[in-house]
Amino acid sequence: CGIVGFTGSIAAQPVLIEGLRRLEYRGYDSAGVAILQPEGALEVVCRKGKVSELEHTLSHFNFKGTCGIGHTRWATHGRPSEANAHPHVSCDGDIAVVHNGIIENFAELREELKAAGHTFRSDTDTEVIAHLLEEAFKAGCPDLTAALSMAAGRLVGAYGIAVVCDREPGTIAVTRKDSPIVVGVGAQGSYVASDIIAMIDATRDVVVLSDGQVARLRPDGVDFFDAAGNPVNPPITHIDWDM
Ligand code: GLU
Repeated sequence: CGIVGFTGSIAAQPVLIEGLRRLEYRGYDSAGVAILQPEGALEVVCRKGKVSELEHTLSHFNFKGTCGIGHTRWATHGRPSEANAHPHVSCDGDIAVVHNGIIENFAELREELKAAGHTFRSDTDTEVIAHLLEEAFKAGCPDLTAALSMAAGRLVGAYGIAVVCDREPGTIAVTRKDSPIVVGVGAQGSYVASDIIAMIDATRDVVVLSDGQVARLRPDGVDFFDAAGNPVNPPITHIDWDM
């Protein structure tokens, strides 16, 4: 239901929690974050229930990592539970995915991936994306952005997706189809969300991603690509309404 992401020069945890709070109005049944720690570990914490419960749990960890993604889930496939909450991870736990929308061909993809040796931990449609990313890297994709393009090429349905990977610290890759994704750069880093309201305090100059476009967020800026991987320069939208 709601996506946030941040990579920059300050800790991601409070930025993600604040963003998720701002998306609460949309309704949700669970919430979670994935944060890349400075020493390289990818930490994933999910809770059924409110963002405040996730925040309480995270306060015990107080992760220092400066790159992460977060999600509020409104279940469509798989009951509301901690196991079905996003982020979802690859078999090795080295890739984390948040997704808004519905992957219509997830059952076929799941069978194909299971036959290829993947183990599934949730009942969601979303989890296939984490395993498709793993396959994309196995197939030789050079980086997370290319892997996301390849994985998205297999998906039928509606999606806004943000992913992180421990092999590419500081990078968030995002894409979308029929589900909103906005990207912006502020003084302290780069932001992504499914709704401008989550990042409005950090920047009012945003890019509204088009269907099929892929963005690579780094702490110092964002690069945009079309579905074939060619660089593109999407227009910047200035938001001047008052919050
Ligand atoms: N279809 C996904 C799920 O059920 C994502 C739902 C959402 O957009 O929150 O987990």
